[in-house]
Amino acid sequence: MTSTDFVHHPFHDEDGDSLREECGVFGVVGARDAAAVTALGLHALQHRGQEAAGIVSYDGQEFHVLRGNGHVAENFGTGEAMAELPGTMSCGHVRYSTTGGTGLRNVQPLYAELASGGFAIAHNGNISNAMHLRSDLVRRGAIFQGTADTEVIIPLVATSRYPTLLDKFVDALRMLEGAYSLICSTPAGMIACRDPLGIRPLVMGHIPEKDGKGAVVFASETVALDIVGAVFDREVEAGELIEVDLDGKTTSHRPFTKTASRPCIFEHVYFSRPDSISAGQSVYSVRKAIGQQLAIESPADVDLVIPVPDSGVPAAIGYAQESGVPFELGIIRSHYVGRTFIQPSDGARTNSVSRKHNANRALVAGKRIVLIDDSIVRGTTSLKIVQMMRDAGATEVHMRIASPPTMHSCFYGVDTPERNKLLAARMDMDAMREFIQADSLAFVSIDGLYRAVGEAERKPKCPQYCDACFTGDYPTRLTDLAEKTHAGQLNLAPGKPEKVA
Ligand code: SF4
Repeated sequence: MTSTDFVHHPFHDEDGDSLREECGVFGVVGARDAAAVTALGLHALQHRGQEAAGIVSYDGQEFHVLRGNGHVAENFGTGEAMAELPGTMSCGHVRYSTTGGTGLRNVQPLYAELASGGFAIAHNGNISNAMHLRSDLVRRGAIFQGTADTEVIIPLVATSRYPTLLDKFVDALRMLEGAYSLICSTPAGMIACRDPLGIRPLVMGHIPEKDGKGAVVFASETVALDIVGAVFDREVEAGELIEVDLDGKTTSHRPFTKTASRPCIFEHVYFSRPDSISAGQSVYSVRKAIGQQLAIESPADVDLVIPVPDSGVPAAIGYAQESGVPFELGIIRSHYVGRTFIQPSDGARTNSVSRKHNANRALVAGKRIVLIDDSIVRGTTSLKIVQMMRDAGATEVHMRIASPPTMHSCFYGVDTPERNKLLAARMDMDAMREFIQADSLAFVSIDGLYRAVGEAERKPKCPQYCDACFTGDYPTRLTDLAEKTHAGQLNLAPGKPEKVA
């Protein structure tokens, strides 16, 4: 496996010009080789985080913790690693880092010994008041090992005055703002929960009975259930907390006042694997439907529809089917180019195009083409791709984007550049088109995106999804950000600069 095979959007990632999902989580109770099942599940979630991975297992007596930088296969691909993680319950995590930096102390699952026994926690999302909670806890004498936002949950649980661990845990959750899908292991079993808005995904399934007992599985995406042979049961609902005891008995709790959920719409656009089912819908089908919406809203008089690999492919198929223009692979990705080659000294030329991609010159020469990509972040990659197509002889290069303009940062667990680095926050449509040097540029409309996920339109008063990176309509309070501003005032309206110190 090359180091790039896991990369979801290698073209953009090469430049750091992409949004990156921060984490994937997986948990299993009642499997004979729980850690091996977890490693396999994490492997299917590798696109959600490639910087570090960790697994914590429980053998009925003790917890065992193994964490490392790098891919899942590098850390958990050997019998020796698995031998260090015995037990029938296990939880795991893959990550990128934004909040907290890259040190091994921040690699999850985090583990602590509480009065009630061991406690392991794996988190996908971002606690948007973690700085505020942390300084309060430090003032009260709490000691932190690392800098990850997730770590605040441990002292909040440890210092809660409620009697049972579950009550302490719920007490801690009530203090959190932001997005969290959590999987925790305790000596009594596993707890899985989703924040009240269900911003980040979490699904539940089971591995059918073998030797008289089945296993309960939780994962960020259904692809992780598929790979371990688990059957998808349902999503963990927004605001739901599910307890699983060591015998596999599950109990659902609803500790929060029920509110309308706001799952991240970008999971459909880009983060989730196309073979996943998200919010009850095939991610692949939604991406195709976005392409169809784009073709309806912004047709292009061209000879070929060409996807930007790899995540632009389903939308390009949809665009081609709707418009009747042939779909062709005009950019070919090499699967064998690693990062180890020494750059030739003629850097100007080699840096101007991707090392992993090449134009299919025989196809595009003399043609008018429309490129389909999932998003534009900084715009530097789009400029290179357009240039690559022109160099290969394309006579017209149009660009269509399968998401609305990304104008705002995400505070819910997705690594977005600061707002002033986002092309769409800096420029209007014409200036963006000029910047990427395309003959025309169009993005799918926000209502077009909602139509692709099966809604008639976006309901502005109570949007059905989190779409804040497009609209600036953040579904939670952003305490940390407010405390960072000079006057405690946020200006997050679309198109206006945020007052972030
Ligand atoms: Fe998803 Fe964007 Fe909301 Fe972040 S801000 S959770 S990326 S929709």
